[in-house]
Amino acid sequence: MRSIGERQLIQQAFRFELDPNRAQRVLLAKSVGASRYVYNWGLAESQRAYEATGKRPRLGELKSQLVQLKKGECPWLYEVSAHIGQQALVDLDRAFERFFKGLKGEGPKSGFPRFKRKGERDSCRVYEVELGERHLRLPMVGPVRLKETRGERGFDGRILSATITRRADRWFVSLAVERERPVVLARVPRRESDVVGVDLGLKAAAVIHDGETSRTVEPAQALRRNLAKLRRLDRQLARKQRGSRNRAKAKLRRACLHYKISCQRQDFLHHRSSELARTKPVVVLEDLHVKGMGRNRGLALSVSDAGFGELRRQLAYKCDWYGSTLVVVDRFFPSTQLCSSCGTLNERIKGFEGLNERRLDCNACGLVIDRDENAAINLRRHGLSQLAGELGIVPLPEGLREVTPDREVGAGRSATAVKPASMKQEATARRNRGETRRSTRQLAEVPA
Ligand SMILES: [Zn+2]
Repeated sequence: MRSIGERQLIQQAFRFELDPNRAQRVLLAKSVGASRYVYNWGLAESQRAYEATGKRPRLGELKSQLVQLKKGECPWLYEVSAHIGQQALVDLDRAFERFFKGLKGEGPKSGFPRFKRKGERDSCRVYEVELGERHLRLPMVGPVRLKETRGERGFDGRILSATITRRADRWFVSLAVERERPVVLARVPRRESDVVGVDLGLKAAAVIHDGETSRTVEPAQALRRNLAKLRRLDRQLARKQRGSRNRAKAKLRRACLHYKISCQRQDFLHHRSSELARTKPVVVLEDLHVKGMGRNRGLALSVSDAGFGELRRQLAYKCDWYGSTLVVVDRFFPSTQLCSSCGTLNERIKGFEGLNERRLDCNACGLVIDRDENAAINLRRHGLSQLAGELGIVPLPEGLREVTPDREVGAGRSATAVKPASMKQEATARRNRGETRRSTRQLAEVPA
């Protein structure tokens, strides 16, 4: 049992953008290059040893071989921190472990470690870094200026390690820290609106239902505009000759836009997740993993799916910060097909075939409601019953057919009172539909 005033040790990451000078850029590039080189070397070495002996060299063996490599053919590895190579081998070892665990069914399936390519997730890990107010001191590189100060980010904690990454020609450092934080007590929902059901839609828009009203959250319009721009850059890139300087420039332009889009998406998700976790003691969300899959072919999926997964990830830790409870409803719960008014299972709307069907037309009671709003209501209710008792919320009777909490709650509120709102939404949904499809297609062209 947690008590007030208790403190706990947590791990957290702080990300800073670096502002390296010319010489430092070269050193940083060498650092991530060394990490990639050692990783690939270790992988090749492991494969070779496996083919010869049927066994993969152990981490310790690879590490001592690395020392020989540095003394022999690769003296340039001495120009970067010794931790970089060692850590690359640790990462490789972990990748192998994950792969074998997945094979044995002891963990999630994971692919065989792959060779890293230059320019794809360039990164390296270092230790013994020092964070000043305006600079980060990196081993073998020296003090690198930060684009934001330590104070501006509210940095706090003991640094465990630092991961340096390059993205779209920008340099970032992610500091893993350990810090103390007061234990936050779980907040108890007092009003109906303290519990919300969240249905995440295709465009990463969400419908949030709080027992009385529903609201739709649209992703930033800027995202769509950028997607059109991205298509243009893709076409430009396709016209450039391989290996040419112009191609490299076009590639960078595209990478910059990708970066911008991901920032906007992150920003959007952070706003949503913070708002929910701060203001709502109970947030009910659907386990979207499977629902997101196959929704549409191509890469659209990985993009929007990443959004879902990311929102859930953020909600999980933010709810923990603010003492809210995140309820994840089982993925087999038919949130879309169930009529939120009478509880009839309307089989007609099914996953993806029914995706263009924006509303639920209940066969039994004749309720017409926006499909996502209906799902949000169902999720909220289901989450409530899952929580019932645990938080002292009056348990909802079994079988939703007899009772509609939405009607119960606000006296005088009835399904008909809900209807106009949903019809309005339905109209908006219809208006957006054409646009929706277009944006889906654009999404489909964003590489994972
Ligand atoms: Zn119904």
